[in-house]
Amino acid sequence: MIDHLLLERATLRDGGTADVLIAGGRVAALGAAAAADPRAAGADRLDLAGYQLLPAAAEPHAHLDKALLAHRAPNPSGDLTGAVNAVRAAYATMDGADVRTRATEALRTALAHGYTAVRTHADVTEGIGTRSLRALTDLRARASGLIDLQVVALTGAPVSGALGRHNRRLLAEAVEAGADVVGGAPALDLNPRAAVRILVAAADEAGLPVDLHLDETTDPEMFLLRLFAEEVAGRGLSGRATASHCVSLGQQDPETCREVCRALADAGVAVVTLPQTNLYLQGRGRPTHTPRGLTAVAALRETGVLVAGGGDNWRDPFNPLGRIDPFETASLLVAAAHLPVADAWDAVTARARAVLGLPPVAVAPGSPADLVAIRAADLDEAVAAASEDRIVLRGGKVVARTRVIRDVVPLQEEAP
Ligand SMILES: [Zn+2]
Repeated sequence: MIDHLLLERATLRDGGTADVLIAGGRVAALGAAAAADPRAAGADRLDLAGYQLLPAAAEPHAHLDKALLAHRAPNPSGDLTGAVNAVRAAYATMDGADVRTRATEALRTALAHGYTAVRTHADVTEGIGTRSLRALTDLRARASGLIDLQVVALTGAPVSGALGRHNRRLLAEAVEAGADVVGGAPALDLNPRAAVRILVAAADEAGLPVDLHLDETTDPEMFLLRLFAEEVAGRGLSGRATASHCVSLGQQDPETCREVCRALADAGVAVVTLPQTNLYLQGRGRPTHTPRGLTAVAALRETGVLVAGGGDNWRDPFNPLGRIDPFETASLLVAAAHLPVADAWDAVTARARAVLGLPPVAVAPGSPADLVAIRAADLDEAVAAASEDRIVLRGGKVVARTRVIRDVVPLQEEAP
């Protein structure tokens, strides 16, 4: 079997076109070096004329256990509380097979759209136990070699105090069952500060990274980020800690915001911003001066915090929309977080992989050949138009291809 593939005439980020030789699952050579490489002669060939060739994307924050539940679990209020209640009411209908079926469909869409790594949260709490988490760890094995799947135990509230005993036990069970990361949502706890301490300690004791849903509210009084940075620094979890959402950081005065951003940078805490779900859920009940539900992306970037962008919820009670598409997330980061296009794309590729602790991928010799080719003249067009016309490679093999046929009648001839 030939293990070599020559991607012909691909458009690269610098605007030039080049052949790219793939061998042994990695990018072997580009341009003239690819043509001169003896392996190119016998390689399979794939014509990428008209395609922008990019590193594959990584989703740093999904909820595959809830994916595609929107119709089964309606959320009439459209806010976070309504979504949490809608999912709780649906737990009884979510057996392992159901979770696997919906999650599989979402993951295959993700792969077709260019994701080769996904971190998903799974609810671990009363009513669902570790059922979803186990379904997703099963899926992790089945997706191996296609998508690197990380499963976060999203521990239910409360975890603090005597009432939290049950959820603490379930978290331990989830770690035992193979959770990759410890998670939770301290704002929902009776004692949010205690919840932060308990969850960071649990991650440290289990030897796992921690990724918490933090401050997912526009209420500036709910502000746990500083404490999270202290706990992470105190336990030496630098580079293994992620704060997801961080909405209320965007509602602080500029000085407080900068100070906390510096604390996050010093502690080695990464931040994941989730534009679509937070734009959808936050700011309801504020018909004027409606706050934008994102975190303070610019301030975080200026202070050197690692910031990635994710999709969060894929058509469920938290977000009825979502194409499961890195180009959509990047587009939202341009519009709602004011990132330049290239920076937004890095937030869903290089920086998302860094948050997940994965080695980088690039269209460069030596890199694993996890790549996405999308029909577009350049990156701006790729993010703006997000053509479905894509080819996805994992480890040098084509794992998804979507073809688009478009017929449009011509306009009338110009008058002579
Ligand atoms: Zn989430």
